[in-house]
Amino acid sequence: EADERESMYLVSEFASEYFQKVLLNTERGKAIGLSYFKERGFTEETIKKFNLGYSPDEWSAFTTEAIKKGYQLEYLEKTGLSIVKEEKQFDRFRGRVMFPIQSMSGRVLGFGGRILGNDKKAAKYLNSPESEIYHKSKVLYGIYHAKQAIAKEDNCYLVEGYTDVIQFNQTGIENVVSSSGTALSPEQIRLINRLTKNITVLFDSDAAGIRASLRGIDLILEQGMNVKVCTFPEGEDPDSYAKKHSEEELKLYLIDNSKDFINYKASLLMEEAKNDPVKKASLIRDMVTSISKIPDSIQQEIYVQETSRIMDISEEVIFTTLAQLWARDQ
Ligand code: ATP
Ligand code: MN
Ligand code: MN
Ligand code: MN
Repeated sequence: EADERESMYLVSEFASEYFQKVLLNTERGKAIGLSYFKERGFTEETIKKFNLGYSPDEWSAFTTEAIKKGYQLEYLEKTGLSIVKEEKQFDRFRGRVMFPIQSMSGRVLGFGGRILGNDKKAAKYLNSPESEIYHKSKVLYGIYHAKQAIAKEDNCYLVEGYTDVIQFNQTGIENVVSSSGTALSPEQIRLINRLTKNITVLFDSDAAGIRASLRGIDLILEQGMNVKVCTFPEGEDPDSYAKKHSEEELKLYLIDNSKDFINYKASLLMEEAKNDPVKKASLIRDMVTSISKIPDSIQQEIYVQETSRIMDISEEVIFTTLAQLWARDQ
């Protein structure tokens, strides 16, 4: 068991080095992959820090090379790097820029691979499948580079994507991780919880990002953590915003625009709910539902007061609603 996992780690680490060599040392890697990363604003230093790579656009270039180097097909298949079909072997990742996913201690667990450009027909990102070493819901992209900074800053920025993590690092913010490719899970939050009690959610400013942020908030509150939300201007995500700004500007933006979750929820729907009592009631229920997730009753009370003030509604009604929610969940 342990031996099998070690073999899977070794194959994955070989793959990571292979994809990086292709990116940096081959004509096609440089022309296609490297120029793609340069266009996104990533420096060579950043590319090396995150071990970014490129998978050749061929059926089995990687698998052939791995087997030649003595890696066993069994482990190539178990990590999902190779696919065996009718006794033929194929590379899972072909013609994609590669993002190795590392554990807390820096081991390679799996990969995300992005197509070049914006072809709407192909899936933008392809990820390694679940395996004995890669449990998607227990991994946070970027955690290896972030763990020290999270403890030091006593805060963790939570973003949606690989490139958000990378661009933030390059701009000078290292306490950032992403749930990349899966919905945020309680286990992922627990990983952060070991390092800090404070999370700032920085999701994309589109409908999907807002939906994900609302779900994330409740999961974070359930673990007794403090959650803030910082939104970006229309059409931006943390990567695109950071790319256009200096470290100082980005840090100022984050400070100026981070809101406590209760203010975020209120402002999100306040505009449209203002003159509509039904919508306002549903918004209040939504906020109270979040408050009901907070394990600490003193903190709960503080948020009840805050909600009462922002929404112009009595604390009594909020406590009644909390009690109803509590009764319903029993
Ligand atoms: P980029 O800037 O490269 O276009 P992004 O990180 O902004 O990518 P989003 O569309 O915002 O991409 O998605 C956020 C994250 O969700 C991605 O980084 C990736 O991990 C995951 N993801 C996006 N599209 C897919 C997909 N088609 N299949 C699997 N995972 C995906
Ligand atoms: Mn998005
Ligand atoms: Mn995005
Ligand atoms: Mn993006």
